[in-house]
Amino acid sequence: MSQEPDNVSPSEIDKFEQSASRWWDPDSEFKPLHDINPLRLGFILEHVDLKGARAVDVGCGGGILAESLALEGARTTGLDLGRSALDVARLHALESGVEIDYRHQSVESLADQMPGQFDVVTCMEMLEHVPDPASVVNACSRLLRPGGHAFFSTLNRNPKAYALAIVAAEYILGMLPRGTHDFARFIRPSELDGWARAGDLALIALRGMQYNPITRQYSLGRDVSVNYLACYRKADAHDPDDRS
Ligand code: SAH
Repeated sequence: MSQEPDNVSPSEIDKFEQSASRWWDPDSEFKPLHDINPLRLGFILEHVDLKGARAVDVGCGGGILAESLALEGARTTGLDLGRSALDVARLHALESGVEIDYRHQSVESLADQMPGQFDVVTCMEMLEHVPDPASVVNACSRLLRPGGHAFFSTLNRNPKAYALAIVAAEYILGMLPRGTHDFARFIRPSELDGWARAGDLALIALRGMQYNPITRQYSLGRDVSVNYLACYRKADAHDPDDRS
């Protein structure tokens, strides 16, 4: 398993750091994240009660999802390795009046420090930016108490995902800066599931996220061929066979 600082691509962090001042600008390159945020929050709330839950958002960026978790009542920690992103996140939390523990720390090191101490782990649109996503999934699992829930979202790897997430989003529609995504790092749901199972996480729900370029709206659906969201549950402590 990779340890800090191995499991990070400095060039990937830099890409996000260049745009850090625009994290909360809903018309910037972060527009897609603002647009999908209500959908992913809704998905999370279908599976867990956030009131009073201990939650950690891994790869939190400027805090778009972390703030939503906190506003739903979760005691929230946000992790990222981009310093400017965290500066923006801290400032915005002050403006929003929410308390979030933002940390410049890898998920692997937090898992060593606070194993089993969270009810909910979220890791959205981040796995496709790290060299060893399996290590991140493993660390997310270690952070959870038995019966806790992990939520992941990423991009599937197939020709349609290449056409829509890279060619259309970056080159035709200009929704994202060119070079935002590297196709080779996209992750098939079966690969995510393999890493999750190895960390005692059982799949609870898998949903696709579709973008309609005509209405410019996102929706959740069954088609997981491009963007997808997954909910996992960590096995109970006394039953290693528990996969419910
Ligand atoms: N999860 C947020 C931001 C997604 S953008 C959201 O969906 O709204 C991807 C984020 O992952 C960036 O902020 C980037 O700095 C962060 N990141 C990339 N590699 C990382 C790593 N190894 N550890 C922690 N954060 C990382």
